[in-house]
Amino acid sequence: MKPRPDCPGCGSESLTAPFCLPRQPVVLNYRFKDADSASRLRRRDVTLRQCRKCGLVCNATFDIGAIPYDENYENRQSFSPAFQTHLDKLAAELTQRNALQGGRILEVGCGKGDFLRLLCETAGARGEGYDTSYELRAEPAGLSFHKRYVGALDVQAPFDAVICRHVVEHVPEIGAFLRELRAIAAAAGDPVVVLETPRFEWIVEQLSLWDVFYEHCNYFPTASLAHLCRLAGFRVVRHRQVFGGQYQVLELRVAKAGKRALKPPGIPERARLGDFSRRARKHLDQLAAQFSQAAAGRAWAVWGAGAKGVALVNHLHGFKPRCVVDSNPAKQGGVLPGSRIPIVAPDDSGLLELGLIVIANPNYAREIGVVLQRRGFTGRVLTL
Ligand SMILES: [Zn+2]
Repeated sequence: MKPRPDCPGCGSESLTAPFCLPRQPVVLNYRFKDADSASRLRRRDVTLRQCRKCGLVCNATFDIGAIPYDENYENRQSFSPAFQTHLDKLAAELTQRNALQGGRILEVGCGKGDFLRLLCETAGARGEGYDTSYELRAEPAGLSFHKRYVGALDVQAPFDAVICRHVVEHVPEIGAFLRELRAIAAAAGDPVVVLETPRFEWIVEQLSLWDVFYEHCNYFPTASLAHLCRLAGFRVVRHRQVFGGQYQVLELRVAKAGKRALKPPGIPERARLGDFSRRARKHLDQLAAQFSQAAAGRAWAVWGAGAKGVALVNHLHGFKPRCVVDSNPAKQGGVLPGSRIPIVAPDDSGLLELGLIVIANPNYAREIGVVLQRRGFTGRVLTL
């Protein structure tokens, strides 16, 4: 597939040279029935290019049709106490600051609906969620879900908030999507619009190549995302880092009509794709050597079958873990996408035989440390 020549955010044709990660599994957050179907998973190149005008990093050979966003798509993180704390705090803050008590909340890309349920419970609000990966279940009164995409034409009544968490990094035509989101907000009576997505600066700081994967076709430096929101007709009311700096949260409002020239931010110094690609590859080689030494000839495991853990395993050629541990029951008993490596529960008996456990996400290091200590694990523990 030929890389696209234009920026999906601002339309500029001034993109940097591509940085290619060949043959990546097309989906990391997916429940596979057996090892055969997991290992036969489709693979495609990730071809990163950065826009010199707005700073957006995109996969220029992305094909959304390659990703199965159906009910087997599983990316809930709420089984982790650290992540749940982040969600609880966000729900409480949004409720308080935007007076959502007793209101109506719309979520665009609600996944299985966990955050919408939490926010509606926190605010005593009613909610409506849209997502193709939603799984039908009995819902509390006042909540309704639709297993499809949402557009401005679906919005027939006012809402007090429009939530869109961990969606924009999955949407190929991001400029058009943000304009549609603005139309949704306008149809909903100009409520607060909340975006949450990873920060590209964090990936660069951590040299975490495992935060680059096929499902994410966009990587947003903070200035880039704010610029694209303004281009789409939003006003940025609040923009902050959350979850140890891994994510950014924006609170937006529809901007008043009237065009003004917006100066693009260019490529911020701390978010340069070129430097990142060179240093991240080297870092990965060093890590593989470090894991091998720490495991001291014994089997080892990665803790975390989320995107980070799966991408890490896929990037490590030739030195694969025996298993991957995850606290999400929906993933346990499954197989890591793109491999034949089993996903086990934290109480799996095989864990005590391992020489090394690598924690994929530093934000979960403390809670995992507690579990390992309780289990009497005596091997090495390394955190990425
Ligand atoms: Zn651009």
